[in-house]
Amino acid sequence: MRTPLVAANWKMHGTQAFARQLLADLEKGFASSSCSAQVLICPPFPYLSLVGDVAGETVALGAQNLSEQKNGAFTGEVSAEMLLDCGASYVLVGHSERRSLYGESDELVAKKFAVAKSSGLIPVLCIGESLEEREAGKTLEVVAGQLNAIASQGLESPWQDTVIAYEPVWAIGTGKTATPEQAQEVHRFIREQLGEAGVSTQILYGGSVKADNAVELFAQPDIDGALVGGASLKAEEFVSICCAAD
Ligand code: PEP
Repeated sequence: MRTPLVAANWKMHGTQAFARQLLADLEKGFASSSCSAQVLICPPFPYLSLVGDVAGETVALGAQNLSEQKNGAFTGEVSAEMLLDCGASYVLVGHSERRSLYGESDELVAKKFAVAKSSGLIPVLCIGESLEEREAGKTLEVVAGQLNAIASQGLESPWQDTVIAYEPVWAIGTGKTATPEQAQEVHRFIREQLGEAGVSTQILYGGSVKADNAVELFAQPDIDGALVGGASLKAEEFVSICCAAD
């Protein structure tokens, strides 16, 4: 049995004051609900400690990115060790915005994944196809390629203590969501690709998840929760999504 997980990706939004208010509103929202999904918050780097201190043990803390380097003269980069030091236990790896806006290749993503694993962080590996790739009937091929880039690193158990987020690029921040059937088809395929480990790996769906589409998505047998961008910045909406994952 896989525990549902709902992860918030705050991206580059907010201020300290905004983060404190959102956390206070989330606390109120969770207190008046009875939802037992695992919750993960991935704030911008400067607010990691703030979220860790305020949210304490009720939510897990994650970062949105990490360096593929261990330490050294890499100006502007943040290492796995620093993330752990700030209390993070998860890290997003290969988010489509990192891939498309910052040129992160499958190879770089695989290096970051390996560093996260070897340091003890749980990677949330983001994979998914573009609109052109879907329209060309290449969705499964693309997703398999992104998984193979990780598998070919020769890590001992790459899919153990790893979370996968299937995020069709055309659905991220666009208001367009994959239908539950489209998402389920890819989630099932991903699980099959993971072999035995796939039975217990949490596979999240990401792409314009909101309170009003979450229930249908989470009803699919291979969807174990969500990675939520825009809607994670609104406490009421995010609490509803978390409760829908129960
Ligand atoms: C994301 O940032 O991973 C994401 C899915 O964003 P949104 O929910 O806004 O589409």
